Amino acid sequence: MNPNLKQAYKAAADFFRAGDNFLLLVHEKPDGDAFGSILGTAHLLQQLGKTFTLVNDDPVPNKFQFFPLADRFRLPEDVEGTFDWVIAQDCGDRKRLGRSGEKLIADDAKILNIDHHKTNDFFGTENLVDLDAAATCQIIYKVAKELEMTLSLDTATCLYTGLVTDTGGFRYSNTTEEVMLIGADLLRHGVQPYNIIDKVMETLTWPQVQLIREALSGIERDETGRIAWIKVSRDVLERVQAEDEDVEGLINYPRNVQGVEVGVSFRDAAPGKVKVSFRSKYLVDVGAIAVEFGGGGHARAAGCTVEGTIEEIEPRVIDRIKQALQEVDVAEPTA
Ligand code: 5GP
Ligand code: MN
Repeated sequence: MNPNLKQAYKAAADFFRAGDNFLLLVHEKPDGDAFGSILGTAHLLQQLGKTFTLVNDDPVPNKFQFFPLADRFRLPEDVEGTFDWVIAQDCGDRKRLGRSGEKLIADDAKILNIDHHKTNDFFGTENLVDLDAAATCQIIYKVAKELEMTLSLDTATCLYTGLVTDTGGFRYSNTTEEVMLIGADLLRHGVQPYNIIDKVMETLTWPQVQLIREALSGIERDETGRIAWIKVSRDVLERVQAEDEDVEGLINYPRNVQGVEVGVSFRDAAPGKVKVSFRSKYLVDVGAIAVEFGGGGHARAAGCTVEGTIEEIEPRVIDRIKQALQEVDVAEPTA
């Protein structure tokens, strides 16, 4: 590990030791890694005898309610005052902390930014940004080691969840030897992998199944077959009564089509706003493209929210991806 990163791990451990009355934040619409890391951290802080407040702009989705301490989440509107010690996790920039970040962080707060996104802009007063980590949960595991703490079953359960979801069930290209070793160590602490994977990855809600049916009926490819995309309109979301969590995983269908390098999904988010998700397989840095559209993420998985309608945004995004494919063809010509 490079010395700066090693130092950042030590500084993060010192931050856990030094502070108290922490505000714990992750990005809005949290996924398995966001919940796993924030709640894993909460359990570690509890073990250290510290107090903390868990806040998110969105209520905890059903499938994550089994997490120990998930019932402690509050909405920013229900929390008074501001906090001096803040740990923000799995967030590339401060904007991603949403209303919670705007309302609850004191002006001169100490902010520890723990993340693994390539597009992280180092918004913290301390920054532990480990780009080699497959999941923020992997970083928290290493912070716990730095603190020489024994992991409880609850902590291990949370951390395993982020590890398994951000690697797509140990399948994506971010699945390294270290990921598997940490996964194995978490099992040694009593984690029941099937119980977690069944709840957070395998189970489909009925609205989710209907969404898959609708989205696949409109799936498209470009003329080369290297880009595929799906669209989910407000109409459809309302008709099937989908929650945000029901949309997760849809993006894998265009991504997994044989010959596709970039899969995209377009979804009506708020009125006049479209959420775009990108996944690439080997070549295209979709994180860089997402940044151009005001978002961010990793090289192989990224997203953004763009103002406009799906019809307006779709050609702009697809054209930009075509250009990126041409650039990689020039850089890495195939025989
Ligand atoms: P998803 O497409 O599943 O929402 O997100 C894929 C990845 O991109 C995740 O790691 C997520 O944190 C990141 N991401 C998604 N939307 C945004 C965004 O608007 N801004 C930033 N900075 N990252 C995003
Ligand atoms: Mn993550």
